[in-house]
Amino acid sequence: MLHIVNATIHSPGRVISRGSVAADGSRIVAVGPAGEVPVASGATVINAAGSILVPGFIDLQLNGAFGDDFTANPETIWRVAEGLPRYGVTAFLPTIITSPLEQVEAAMRVVAGGRPKAFRGALPLGVHAEGPFLNPKKKGAHNPRHLRLPAAADTAGWSADAGMRLLTMAPELPGALDVIRTLVARGVVVSTGHSMATFEEAVAGFDAGARYGTHLFNAMPSLGHRDLGLPGALLADGRMTVGFIADGIHTHRAIVDLVWRMLGPKRLNLVTDAMAALGMPAGRHRLGEYDVIVDATSCRLDDGTPAGSVLAGSILEMDQALRNLVEITGCPLGEALETMTTTPAKLLGLDGERGRIAPGFVADMVLLSPDLRVQTTIASGEIAYTAV
Ligand code: ZN
Repeated sequence: MLHIVNATIHSPGRVISRGSVAADGSRIVAVGPAGEVPVASGATVINAAGSILVPGFIDLQLNGAFGDDFTANPETIWRVAEGLPRYGVTAFLPTIITSPLEQVEAAMRVVAGGRPKAFRGALPLGVHAEGPFLNPKKKGAHNPRHLRLPAAADTAGWSADAGMRLLTMAPELPGALDVIRTLVARGVVVSTGHSMATFEEAVAGFDAGARYGTHLFNAMPSLGHRDLGLPGALLADGRMTVGFIADGIHTHRAIVDLVWRMLGPKRLNLVTDAMAALGMPAGRHRLGEYDVIVDATSCRLDDGTPAGSVLAGSILEMDQALRNLVEITGCPLGEALETMTTTPAKLLGLDGERGRIAPGFVADMVLLSPDLRVQTTIASGEIAYTAV
């Protein structure tokens, strides 16, 4: 048993001051004001001393960290997962960028193989395949040699049960709508991205079942007031959850505030899109088959073109994304939290067990200081990180 006392609990839609939480194994069993949650004898007690307790963060787009790249080396997924609680992350989708299909399937097997012995960390909930069905005109940092047209034969083994949770693809490609319909029926969330789709082509993709947009404004045409394209369609369509990198580099800071006001906490989903350089010194790092030059704030493809041309992932920390959203928009903490807890959980169909601090939910929680820095992270009921 784990017992947290004296915390200001922020779970989306609810704040409890001087609250307590009890977890038994990997699940939360009781939440309430001090005195309403009896402490079991023998429980490990954490005195939060007034710190803020929030649900663990869910990152739907993470390419790697700590020097490891999931696309190049899918076997590193569980090792990286052990380090992610330092950013408050308790669940994530390891993201495999455009590569041979065997590489995507290798990652699915690594995740589906389950947690290694004595594992303590953020749980990979399945794979996010970013590609290979992308528009070559918006390839970003993906290797065009591996881009393909959507084909049922290529996705025959892909389902949520097999470990494919999210697929980013360009809905305007020939054959895309059939693949969307098939994968959605198998429980895969389909995202539109790395795309030249017009407004109409994007909506056709949504009608076929796509429900997400990958890193809004990046790797898609600009939003025009008469020619809205994919970004306009994603913003305008209430069915869509929209992934967004709030690092002030992938978009102007003012856009963070604009999309917040347009989408709100139920449709805006903050992701990091972080790559191998996350948690590492600046320098040269790997993304798929390419080298990426990383400075203090950004990651750019070393493709022989002048440095600064193509962004290649980020080094954004999830807790920094939370601080950025609160600082730039001035929104309440509880609403900012939704964008990385309940909103991604709902997209994945896991909102009955993840994203909240409530009885029956997975005991994924983060203790934050008043300035929203991670102090302690509890993943699946175990203390997975403590700040020194
Ligand atoms: Zn991308």
